[in-house]
Amino acid sequence: MKKDIHPEAFVVTALCACGNSFQTSSAVETIKTTLCSACHPFFTGKHKFVDTARRIERFQSKYKKFEEQKAKPKSEKKEQQKKK
Ligand SMILES: [Zn+2]
Repeated sequence: MKKDIHPEAFVVTALCACGNSFQTSSAVETIKTTLCSACHPFFTGKHKFVDTARRIERFQSKYKKFEEQKAKPKSEKKEQQKKK
């Protein structure tokens, strides 16, 4: 290793938002994280939705309007076809 170019490595305790903590090695002194291997869906196998700003709800309401608009012209077309 070259001298004076590497950052100092600490053994730190990383804290997760779920309450889990674990020891790791890092160049920074404190680690706070929102996801860790104890609570991330990939490791737990449980689906976890964090719907910030109601984005899913807003998308569904938007899509509902789109479907309604899409359905109306079709029924009108069918009626026109019957008349012919
Ligand atoms: Zn966690």
